[in-house]
Amino acid sequence: MNAVHDPSFEMDHLPDVEPRELIRALFARVHDIVVVCDRDGVVRFVNDAITEHLGFTTDAVIGRRVDTFVAEADAPRITASIARWGHRKGQPRGNEVDVRTVDGSVRRFHYRAHMGTDLYGSGGFIVTVSPASEADDRADLIPALIENTNRVARIAAVFLDEPAENFGAALGVAVRELAGLEWLNRITIWTIRGPEMVLSAQWDAAYQAPSRPPPERLRIDPSQMLRSLVGGNEVRLLTAHDDASEFVAEARAFAAAGTTSLLGVPLTARGAVLGAILLESTIDAVIDGASHMATVRAATAVIAAAMLRNRAELELAHQARTDRTTGLLNRWAAQGDLSEMLVRLANRGSRGVGVIGIDLDRFKLVNEALGHRAGDRLLGEVSERLRSAAPPGAWLARLSADEFLVVIPDVESETTTRGTAERILEPFTIPFDIDGSTVSVTARAGVVQASAVDDHLSAEELLRRVANTVDQAKRSGRLVETFDVTEDGQLRRLRRVSQLERALLERELVPYFQAEWDLKTNRVIGAETLLRWVHPTEGLIGADSVIPLAESSGLIDRIGQHILAEACRIALSWLDLVDDFLLRVNVSAHQLRSEDFTDRVAEILTETGFPPTSLCLELTESTLLDDPARSRQHFAHLRQLGVGLAIDDFGTGYSSILQLKQLPLSSLKIDQRFVAGVASSASDRAIVEATLELARAFGVTTTAEGVEEEHQREILEKLGCVRMQGFLFSRPEPAEQLTARLLM
Ligand code: C2E
Ligand code: CA
Ligand code: CA
Repeated sequence: MNAVHDPSFEMDHLPDVEPRELIRALFARVHDIVVVCDRDGVVRFVNDAITEHLGFTTDAVIGRRVDTFVAEADAPRITASIARWGHRKGQPRGNEVDVRTVDGSVRRFHYRAHMGTDLYGSGGFIVTVSPASEADDRADLIPALIENTNRVARIAAVFLDEPAENFGAALGVAVRELAGLEWLNRITIWTIRGPEMVLSAQWDAAYQAPSRPPPERLRIDPSQMLRSLVGGNEVRLLTAHDDASEFVAEARAFAAAGTTSLLGVPLTARGAVLGAILLESTIDAVIDGASHMATVRAATAVIAAAMLRNRAELELAHQARTDRTTGLLNRWAAQGDLSEMLVRLANRGSRGVGVIGIDLDRFKLVNEALGHRAGDRLLGEVSERLRSAAPPGAWLARLSADEFLVVIPDVESETTTRGTAERILEPFTIPFDIDGSTVSVTARAGVVQASAVDDHLSAEELLRRVANTVDQAKRSGRLVETFDVTEDGQLRRLRRVSQLERALLERELVPYFQAEWDLKTNRVIGAETLLRWVHPTEGLIGADSVIPLAESSGLIDRIGQHILAEACRIALSWLDLVDDFLLRVNVSAHQLRSEDFTDRVAEILTETGFPPTSLCLELTESTLLDDPARSRQHFAHLRQLGVGLAIDDFGTGYSSILQLKQLPLSSLKIDQRFVAGVASSASDRAIVEATLELARAFGVTTTAEGVEEEHQREILEKLGCVRMQGFLFSRPEPAEQLTARLLM
């Protein structure tokens, strides 16, 4: 949206400046009453003249309808007019009107209604009211004043929606808006930067501009005039009379360019001078006129306020992008800049982007040994060394505690980037001196080169590749490692998934079984099914390496069904060997999300002929919370079938007792973590006791898993736990081994 042409601009939104102050400044020395109304005739501004003529304070008038001040006889006529004024444009209308004063007396005034102002957004009008006897001797002045008021409002509007980076452009628009003041031939806006004033915006009249262009920057100190401006003073100069001026040197310089009169107004906001506006004329005009001066001052106030806000915005943006410890870009900013760079690369705007990730070995140790402050100082020194070794045009970022990034925006080959990485690491062969301690730090680099053919490479993916390559360097022990597509983790994962799919078809995924023991009888009473991948070249792969991959790739449904079917088929024969044999099978949260999970279980039970009451499905607590409504549906159906449900890893999640009550549970499995601590930790022991208590209260059985040592078994037994599973008794084993065990 271009705010300049936006008719709904609200004066109330002026950046940091009280709008009434601006209008007040414009109408300050006007003897007439000036009333600014919105389209409904409600007074939004009135100048101080109201007090002089009618005795009301401005506050007593603002917010009331303007016709409430009209004497009774004239009121209906004025009220009817207001209804038209608020919505109309056109020539000002005037007439005589009787107005009530604060003491109730009535006085005759002449008014003019200027329609079509838009200071308060929705349209409106300005009424000027003068004593009837003095009417019309200022008729020319008021429209100019009103035009200037609107001009200031438009200047303010320029800055409203402009993003911080576009401030220069907004200044340019503001300057053109100001140029509407008749007597001007050049306007320049200057910003103070250190010892200089920098030219920030400029407008020249198409006709009769000063002959010499203004310089890009001016040193403040040598110029008495600039010093005066920076000191917060307005400056007027008539160059023809330069000998009389206190700024002789400046007057001569301007005169040489053809400027005959000049007005300088400091840009002051909240007491600070930020710069100045110089208004020049090539005609020997006396720069004066209350309206013009007020307009210039009001515009200056608006521009200064906008400048101040812009500075704050830029500062904030800078802060948000900067890492405080090192002054480098932070991860967030780096990612944003990289994104832009990759877009440019895709559009062939650069030959290639070289990215070097740098990681410090043992930084954490240094941090711990020397303390945080020394650690921060080390990071500062590290970033200093990186900065000085980085090639021109490169930028640096700190991604995390000891991870840095060097980005080279336009570099053709990976070899060049790699060479840069090696050079950057060179200074690290010299130890650091941190508060008198000598600290050696090894830095390693991962090099990734992005070229235009890397279609759709995102900044995230690029950073991921960098991180992987740095990791690769750490693992290999080399200082510099270059990204290798074939070694890339993401691709490895993809390959692994397709291998897993093949393994499922090739029947390489098999159930192992770990026996569950009853301590009272010292016999096996069931078994937990645990998946294993019998890999043709890598040997036996454990469940922890398979299940997460199966879950994230969506293969878990098919794999889960396969394992369940296999287990049921195999365990059928064990039912004959052991009374009440219980087959346990693990289920993932992902499986419960599928609508037909229960149907599949029922099908498998029917196909294999395995009795539902001999099957128990194990779910972790988090699984139960994943999609409680759907889970509960599945549980109810499974329960109807007669299938048992167990909570696995009990105590590690967040199930409330209430939730447990609502679930059709048949058993709890005490997590190995608590079993491991049952002998040494009072709190672990308390958890185990509470679990057993809870299970008894709900009438469900409890199995302790991960029992590895004799004294753990003893304590658990003493606490009343009879069902156990763990390496102490037997390990997960192939079906034939469990069969043999059962036959013993
Ligand atoms: P889990 O259900 O808690 O299974 C118990 C894990 O503890 C098994 O690891 C088992 O080998 C191990 N374990 C048994 N006794 C001991 C012991 O005394 N000490 C120690 N330290 N560990 C013991 P595994 O086989 O690697 O399985 C890991 C997890 O993978 C399982 O944890 C289970 O959550 C999941 N999982 C295994 N098979 C399947 C499956 O077919 N489907 C699904 N969805 N998940 C499975
Ligand atoms: Ca389990
Ligand atoms: Ca477990």
